[in-house]
Amino acid sequence: MAKVLKSKNKNVITSEDIIQIANKYNSFGEEVFDANGNNPLNESEKLTMISRLEIKFEEILDILRISKDDPNCTGTPKRLAKMYVNELFHGRFNPPPDITFFPNRKNVNNLVISKGIQVMSVCSHHWQPIAGTCIIGYIPNKRVIGLSKISRIVEWFSRRGQIQEELGEQIADFLEELLAPKALGVVINAKHYCMIARGVRGSEIDTVMTTSVMRGYMLDNLKLRNEFVTLIKPQA
Ligand SMILES: [Zn+2]
Repeated sequence: MAKVLKSKNKNVITSEDIIQIANKYNSFGEEVFDANGNNPLNESEKLTMISRLEIKFEEILDILRISKDDPNCTGTPKRLAKMYVNELFHGRFNPPPDITFFPNRKNVNNLVISKGIQVMSVCSHHWQPIAGTCIIGYIPNKRVIGLSKISRIVEWFSRRGQIQEELGEQIADFLEELLAPKALGVVINAKHYCMIARGVRGSEIDTVMTTSVMRGYMLDNLKLRNEFVTLIKPQA
């Protein structure tokens, strides 16, 4: 029997095939994808997801022996369910923001930098907040983009289960595709509340993780890279 299951014959479904198919769908037969992926849902699909989650959060409170009579927890399962779908994991279930860009009429050939863009995400490992800021610098090619649009792109990728390293890469990939800039740098500085909340060590409260993604001229033009690093340094 085991031999048949391992056969390469296309007409035979192997146990590996069954595992692979099972991993692609959840128990409701819906397609699953990575925590930091995206697959937009319509309003009724979101409502279904929220009511299913509410039932599960009720179970979680029950397992944690939290009394249903505790007035502070009235409505907590529903509140948590809505928060995960509509806020914390918002970027998983909504289409990308509408992006308008403008022609680079003056042929700007210098760094354009946006600092202090808010990053509010959730770590994929512990589902605790990752909170910080993002800096984006680029040398335009044929297109420039508005500041508010950059913030919305960062938010769209942040509002998912993330790891900071991949968040920066996703933002850089998206901007590269959209703007085809000559140079691009994405720097994220953030605190990870999984460390702070769990009290791994007292000093962790001050720990900030920095990740940087460099693309185009920023990769091999050292002068440009130094200029970027100097310009993004916090002002004394
Ligand atoms: Zn974590």
